[in-house]
Amino acid sequence: SQAESGIPAFYGDPPNAHHPWAVHDGNRPQPEVVTPGTFSSQEQPGTPPSDAVILFNGADESNWVSAKDGSPAKWQVNDGLLVVEPKTGDIQTKQQFGDCQLHVEWAEMPDVQGSSQGRGNSGIFLGNQYEVQILDSFDNKTYVDGQAAALYKTKPPLVNACRKPGEWQAYDIIYNAPRFDEHKTIVKPGYITVLHNGGLVQNHTEILGETAYDSPPILKPHGAAPIRLQFHGNPVRFRNIWLREIPEPQPVRP
Ligand code: MG
Repeated sequence: SQAESGIPAFYGDPPNAHHPWAVHDGNRPQPEVVTPGTFSSQEQPGTPPSDAVILFNGADESNWVSAKDGSPAKWQVNDGLLVVEPKTGDIQTKQQFGDCQLHVEWAEMPDVQGSSQGRGNSGIFLGNQYEVQILDSFDNKTYVDGQAAALYKTKPPLVNACRKPGEWQAYDIIYNAPRFDEHKTIVKPGYITVLHNGGLVQNHTEILGETAYDSPPILKPHGAAPIRLQFHGNPVRFRNIWLREIPEPQPVRP
């Protein structure tokens, strides 16, 4: 029995993992080898891991289009930075993504202007509709479910980990998209986890629906979607944007 063998009941994969491998099975396939990235400093961005999809590396915004009409993105690319350009609207990736690990670095302008939601507002929309808020929340009070690193209108961050305006900040986001069946019924909730400047601020937060500012979250069926960056009239700067796609779990045994 398990008690006699000393092996805990939940040792290793759970009993509903449909794979044929024994514990410590030498025939189980090895994970892909990747070259890890490097951390960024204030002075310069790090390098992405070798299996990353590069969305912005300082060269150009060719992986992005205007969200409103699909024309080439019209934000500024200056000195290796992607900068929100007045009167241009949101931009979104050409490519569509499902589950992913997304890395985004952003900085507010050092000369503080505006207050509350009007100070350094942008945002990252996972699934093209669930906003992880970007805001200058350093010494800038606003409603807590709309401050930096909030899942907008859904959940405030666990802590306020904002750096001073002008300093580079990082989001590392794990996005698990909600799943819907052929009847457009949700069969698995979606979740968002966020690390802000390396600290956990959203821990597997359940997605309740689209994070429009003026209406309650409503969950609508969708599949892979672009990642969108928000134009909110403030000149937020970005650098070093990349993601790693998370493969769909595949049962090995039918
Ligand atoms: Mg925003």
